[in-house]
Amino acid sequence: MQRLKHSPLNYVGRFAPSPTGPLHAGSLRAAMASYLDARAHHGRWLLRIEDLDTARAVPDAAHHIIQTLAAFGMDADGDIVWQSQRKNSYQQAFDQLADVSYPCSCSRREIADSRIGLASDGAAIYPGTCRNGMAAGRSPHAWRLRVPEAGHAEGEICFKDRWQGLFTEQLATAVGDFVLKRGDGFWAYQLAVVVDDAIQGVTDVVRGADLLGSTARQIYLQHKLGLPTPRYLHVPVVANAAGEKLSKQTGASALDLNKPLTALLEAAQGLGLALDGVNSVPDFWRKAIPLWAQRFAEPDVNHP
Ligand SMILES: [Zn+2]
Repeated sequence: MQRLKHSPLNYVGRFAPSPTGPLHAGSLRAAMASYLDARAHHGRWLLRIEDLDTARAVPDAAHHIIQTLAAFGMDADGDIVWQSQRKNSYQQAFDQLADVSYPCSCSRREIADSRIGLASDGAAIYPGTCRNGMAAGRSPHAWRLRVPEAGHAEGEICFKDRWQGLFTEQLATAVGDFVLKRGDGFWAYQLAVVVDDAIQGVTDVVRGADLLGSTARQIYLQHKLGLPTPRYLHVPVVANAAGEKLSKQTGASALDLNKPLTALLEAAQGLGLALDGVNSVPDFWRKAIPLWAQRFAEPDVNHP
């Protein structure tokens, strides 16, 4: 098997689904890309269940996801991590950010009414109303991280995505001060992901391009917490016939556990891998891993 050049010595990748329903063609593409990249680098592939949002969690969905990955031949290394069991780590990180965060009493409605614009994830950009303190008599709806003013170099996040290319985001104008923790104690996705990736030693984040717009915030949090920044690779999302991102809400159907090969081949095709004569799940991975390695092999500067 061809080995990728310049690979980190201890490559660690991960797949981190939310247990909001069974895996579908969209989540399979993301899982496959992260698995292929880890195996092509002879690295470890971790599974993390992002079950912080208990209101959206579906009973048994996590179990079903684990079963599906196994049926599709994607075996995770090490123990499965559950975010719901790591709240102490999130609290520690939150405490470290005390000097650069503040309570905010604004409701979703009030923020939307300010009409500053929409962030890349569709949420309204926060206008900074509570930066200098909440209005008298109000209690916090959330705690927010203060981002540098527009024009400050520190708030301009630039990274090279291994699939999408160069990406730059000015935090102040793209999202504004963003939420770390909600008033009801719920930890924000951005904070939890950054803390978990660091604790698990993740070197490479491979996921769907729907999360490209979260990456700048995550890199800024890494800077603020003194954590390393992993490499990123965002694969295009799977769309339905109407051009919407495939999800449970847009009518994605669960993967058929009895026909793993059909779904695997379709997902591989979506990632631009042309596979011939595949006759079993193990055979699929045997052929797909070197193809991925070839595709993402970087030029060797020492031996052109
Ligand atoms: Zn506010």
